[in-house]
Amino acid sequence: MIPVTETNNLVTLFSNNELKIHYYCDDYVLATTENLNLNGTIILDNNAFTNNGFYAIVYCAEDYKNEYVTENSKSGKVLFSGKNFLIMEVLSKEFMPAINDGMVIVRNIQAKLPKSTAYPVVTEPDENVLDYLSQVSTDTLMAYIQTLQDFETRICIHPNAVLAQNWIKEKYESFGLETSLQRFPLWGEWDWSSKNVIAIQYGTEFPEEFIVCGAHYDSFTYQSYVNQSFSDAPGADDNASGVAGILETARILSQYDFKRSIIYCSFSGEELGLWGSSYFAEQCANEITNIVGYFNLDMIGYLTPGKPIHIDLIYPNSAKSLADYYFNVCDVYFPEIPVQGFSNLPWGDSDHTSFNTVGYKGIWPFEDIYENSPYIHNVPHYDSLFHFHYLGDIIGPSVNNPDQVNVFTKTNVASVATLAMYDQEMPLIIAPPVNCLAVPYLGNRIKITWEEPLEGSPEGYNVYQDGSYIAHIAAPKLECIDWLYNDPSWHCYKITAVYGAFESDFSNESCASLGVTEHNSKVNIYPNPANDKIYIECQLINHNAEIFDMSGKLIINQIINSDTTTIDISN
Ligand SMILES: [Zn+2]
Repeated sequence: MIPVTETNNLVTLFSNNELKIHYYCDDYVLATTENLNLNGTIILDNNAFTNNGFYAIVYCAEDYKNEYVTENSKSGKVLFSGKNFLIMEVLSKEFMPAINDGMVIVRNIQAKLPKSTAYPVVTEPDENVLDYLSQVSTDTLMAYIQTLQDFETRICIHPNAVLAQNWIKEKYESFGLETSLQRFPLWGEWDWSSKNVIAIQYGTEFPEEFIVCGAHYDSFTYQSYVNQSFSDAPGADDNASGVAGILETARILSQYDFKRSIIYCSFSGEELGLWGSSYFAEQCANEITNIVGYFNLDMIGYLTPGKPIHIDLIYPNSAKSLADYYFNVCDVYFPEIPVQGFSNLPWGDSDHTSFNTVGYKGIWPFEDIYENSPYIHNVPHYDSLFHFHYLGDIIGPSVNNPDQVNVFTKTNVASVATLAMYDQEMPLIIAPPVNCLAVPYLGNRIKITWEEPLEGSPEGYNVYQDGSYIAHIAAPKLECIDWLYNDPSWHCYKITAVYGAFESDFSNESCASLGVTEHNSKVNIYPNPANDKIYIECQLINHNAEIFDMSGKLIINQIINSDTTTIDISN
């Protein structure tokens, strides 16, 4: 575990070849490494991932930690205790989240930061988008939530979750969408849980560019997990409400053609550590699917009585450009709704994190990070004072504001549709340059060369020295000269390829030093351009001057000495 103190620090950690980062957030990374001299490193496990095991970030209130750890002691071991969270080693499949809170599984994968993406800037409402928004129906949304609640439990290993999965699949199919079920391994075991439901609407102009929106349909109650009944988990706010929002988005947008492809996801296994979405996002990353943004919905139906409808937008700093796009869309279409940004939920997490972990951008508009529904993850019960008063994550106490469900769904429709209509290409090219090599050159310079990426045709390359950007080189040139003058220290270089607004991962790193200190001189060459004589002023002795024409051809190679050397280039 390595703390992250600022954004640049995160980029530096990711460019450190000695680190394999498995998880990152704005506050810390979880990584494996041989080098333990990094600032602030906390060793969690000396033999990480030895048994194809898992680790879990368990969100847990401070005053509940002891009870949770005791109850879960056979299936999990505490490695680190932070404010309102624990990092644990998972010892068995019976491992449980804490009572009301979220959980993220950390797996032995290479996490990635996303590439830069140029999102459209929206200045005024679009007629088509306004038409889609007018079709968002509160009655339809509430009917979807009621149907999902009526499955009674959707805990992902209960048969009723499969019934819910099949109902969701039929809904997507009724909209004419190509729909499939995606299995994923829960705690490494296939076909133990219900599956992800994935519906695709292909774009007409950029079908290879995907906008993904999704919500988890599995539910959870702590008591039924402890007693192994897995029943009584109606999950109306968490998260029938989000599933309904995605279904309603699909119902409306599936009637129209868009330039870009849209994927509608209903994930399973979220409550036990984001299993379904992790598998989906990782498969997309492995297949180099160009996902230009992921929009998550999870808990959109509860509002503290008396408060105005508002949106708490949760996203890591790496997804800031997508969040800025969402703020922009909300400004234009819903100027009366306040939207505030937060880097995380203090007591949990959701499926957007699965996308951010593998190098995409995902954001999560949420009902209220401090005053969310108090009824989630609790078995419904009758109020002890008023026996007729039935409490739990159901429509009524928990989904208590249908208008808010409507508003959140509309922001999803507007952000997905606007991006799907955008007429500029949004390419994803990840191939970096290869074979970077830095060597001392002509006494006081380092010459850095590299080769083109294995795929893609970049417009140019960015050169980094010791992690900092130093130069942009336009393609097809594949070299850069770094003037070090009298700096004898080692410097390490790596290169990225630049494709429009996108920048690739780094190439390999190559290091070099001049190893000498005598060349403290400045060289003056004039006039430039020249077609007759040029004059070179410098304090070097017996060095070669190589002169190239505009095409890069070597035309003169001549010894120069101190003071002024005159070179005749008239021939
Ligand atoms: Zn949830």
